[in-house]
Amino acid sequence: MGSAVTTSYRAEGLPYPQDAPASQALFDRALAVVPGGVNSPVRAFRAVGGTPRFMAHGSGAWMTDADGRRYVDLVCSWGPLIHGHAHPEIIAAVQAAAARGTSFGTPTLGEVDLAEEIVRRTPVDEVRLVNSGTEATMTAIRLARGYTGRPKIVKFAGCYHGHVDALLAAAGSGVATLGLPDSPGVTGAAASETLVVPYNDISAVEAVFAAGGGEIAAVITEAAAGNMGVVAPREGFNQRLAEIAHAHGALLIVDEVMTGFRVSAGGWAGLDPVDADLFTFGKVMGGGLPAAAFGGRREIMSRLAPAGPVYQAGTLSGNPLACAAGLASLRLADENVYKRLDALSATVGALASDALNTAGVTHRLSYAGNMFSIFFTAVDVVDYDSAKTQDPAAFKAFFHEMLSRGVYLPPSAFESWFVSTALDDEALEHIADALPHAARAAAAAGEHKRSE
Ligand code: PLP
Repeated sequence: MGSAVTTSYRAEGLPYPQDAPASQALFDRALAVVPGGVNSPVRAFRAVGGTPRFMAHGSGAWMTDADGRRYVDLVCSWGPLIHGHAHPEIIAAVQAAAARGTSFGTPTLGEVDLAEEIVRRTPVDEVRLVNSGTEATMTAIRLARGYTGRPKIVKFAGCYHGHVDALLAAAGSGVATLGLPDSPGVTGAAASETLVVPYNDISAVEAVFAAGGGEIAAVITEAAAGNMGVVAPREGFNQRLAEIAHAHGALLIVDEVMTGFRVSAGGWAGLDPVDADLFTFGKVMGGGLPAAAFGGRREIMSRLAPAGPVYQAGTLSGNPLACAAGLASLRLADENVYKRLDALSATVGALASDALNTAGVTHRLSYAGNMFSIFFTAVDVVDYDSAKTQDPAAFKAFFHEMLSRGVYLPPSAFESWFVSTALDDEALEHIADALPHAARAAAAAGEHKRSE
């Protein structure tokens, strides 16, 4: 299926056609039985238009869709796949675990191994394994409230911590992509306990604590923002949050679901140490299977059931396959892996920025460790308001041209690009060949908008 298209594209350097018949047929089936045809909103291509590509398989840096078209993957399952697709050691670990049994509902060795590996790499004393980043942040908040006996949470506009009711206020990621107001279904009571302040703005944080610090259980922040596009914290920002929170008897929760084990062996805290009380993890630590975690100081974690009264549980938590994939992913992730991810992200970002400069497209290339994104704006991006100044038409044109030339970017201007160590010279050349076309498309879209 579709191999003729792949072959002619590879041989003649032609773009793939706009339509994607096999993906469209699958999307039509999905639309009949799944809301919006997808199981997570950004996958639906709503921000960029067109048919979402249904992937059939992946290997290394490449994915192949239902039409047989190949793409260099710069999404990496939204972060987890630092070693690329179907890494043989991860596949072998999952296969071996599956052969021993898929789930027991009892403690297993893999959970201890994975927890020890996380504790070894990060500042946490203890860790609880869960199935998604959403569960991790949801429970970290419950624990912070249970520990402090206070109701309120401070979060930053444009930061995304999963679809926890209290954290959907002014959220990034899909909420930003779809331009949604705060979600219907979140009660006023839940929303009113969330205080939203601008990212990177210490004086705003000081002001909310001055106004009602005695009510605040915790500040939650992305270790480095990646869900409004990539926006690094200003120097000392995270540590200052810890100081302010602690001065008022509140906790700091640092959400490393995206940055954890991706930007360094110890996540963002490995680059920018911080006296946080709780951390949340996900993505890389699951090796592409559903696993996430939260952890922190023993004194706080010991309040969690069954050691303490704050309840949390999960039928599939610490699932043997997910633990095996996560452990294999982390054991592969030595210092050389992080050096390579850093170098590759610098290369890809520079290639993109050079192409855009050559085409005369105003943009900002924004890094946090080896995560990065490109903002089609003339404004330095430091928070959600500045992130929203970007030109969606330019991004859309850029995205589709890259897609048609076999490079899969996040289908939203409010997301990070992710590299894997599997990006080899062939993949980099492929990206470099596509970029000038995409940059010219972005320039044309920008000019079109200016002349309207
Ligand atoms: N926290 C951050 C920083 C994230 O980027 C995400 C997801 O992208 C989450 C939490 C939620 O994780 P999950 O999608 O596994 O529920």
